[in-house]
Amino acid sequence: MNNINIAAPTMGKEEKEAVLAVLDSGQIAQGAVTKKFEERFAAYCGIKFAVATTSGTTALQAALMAHGIGAGDEVITSAFTFIATANTILGTGAKPVFADIDETTFNLDPQLVAAKITPRTKAIMPVHLYGLPCDMAALNALAQKHNLVIIEDAAQAVGAEIDGRKAGAFGTGCFSFYATKNLTTAEGGMITTNDATLAQKLQMIRQHGMRQRYLHETLGFNFRMTDIQAAIGVAQLDKLEAMTAKRIANANFFSKELSATVRVPVVPPGYRHVYHQYTIRVRGDRDQIVEQLKERGIGAGIYYPIPIHQQPFYWQMGFRDTLPVSEMLAKQVISLPVHPALSQADLERIIREVRALCST
Ligand SMILES: *Cc1c(COP(=O)(O)O)cnc(C)c1O
Repeated sequence: MNNINIAAPTMGKEEKEAVLAVLDSGQIAQGAVTKKFEERFAAYCGIKFAVATTSGTTALQAALMAHGIGAGDEVITSAFTFIATANTILGTGAKPVFADIDETTFNLDPQLVAAKITPRTKAIMPVHLYGLPCDMAALNALAQKHNLVIIEDAAQAVGAEIDGRKAGAFGTGCFSFYATKNLTTAEGGMITTNDATLAQKLQMIRQHGMRQRYLHETLGFNFRMTDIQAAIGVAQLDKLEAMTAKRIANANFFSKELSATVRVPVVPPGYRHVYHQYTIRVRGDRDQIVEQLKERGIGAGIYYPIPIHQQPFYWQMGFRDTLPVSEMLAKQVISLPVHPALSQADLERIIREVRALCST
């Protein structure tokens, strides 16, 4: 029996031809194709500007820098996320402040965020975990009231929506195009904004603080995407809606078939979940269930087994938060393969095995 992997990049003839065209053009570093990818990505998101970077991590880093966040500042975010979310905050010299999440959506609970606001708070960094947007009406209202910046970690949420408005359009949006993400350029990232001044700052941060060659006006680094990656990105963008529709169809089928056995994802009305991960909650011995799924050829994943405040490095720094919901969910979640390359037979096999292992 074949193995069903947790992720499978969809690379076809279009991506290959686009890469070869760039290689033949002689212009392989950041150039016209990157610009085209940025314009197309911004249009897709319904946002004015997009700035491409080397990764989701550097997108977050550049966004924090562009908003002037640094030593003495606090940024409120989730601990139930990939480490990059909090590490990029630390990297600026600011302090990540963890708020707990809602157990049905896995996303920041706005009331708990409100309780963490201090005079040092500069920003909120909502993470649209697994591809479901956070409660942005509530978070945007908080930000407005307390004059805070919103930097969305939309790494998992390209194409996700609330009432037709795309993730990345509720603040400064940061995306990742890592190999497993819904849209991939192997490695890559993007920042979205409607603010022309901020977009220009981001372009400078990406390029050693340069607007004019060898005139350095601000701190910057090399966060440039290559045209090779951007070519893959443009081809992927053409397929994104079809790939996302398949993810959603796969997820809906799982939810229909599995809701009697395990707790399935919840999608609030008006939200478009793009299922970067399809994550269930189980009652039994989660680690054992994941092992058994793997033995049966199903590449289940745990995102994330240890919340950030309990990571050794954060513990060493003195983080001692108690985040009961994050801590509980870290012990219950299993993500099942939901990617667009799955066949109907794959889906049925996954359902069969989950039912067999999780029925009590
Ligand atoms: C993938 C991811 C990142 C980091 O993106 P990279 O491209 O891997 O640097 C940040 N936050 C979240 C939630 C992610 O899933």
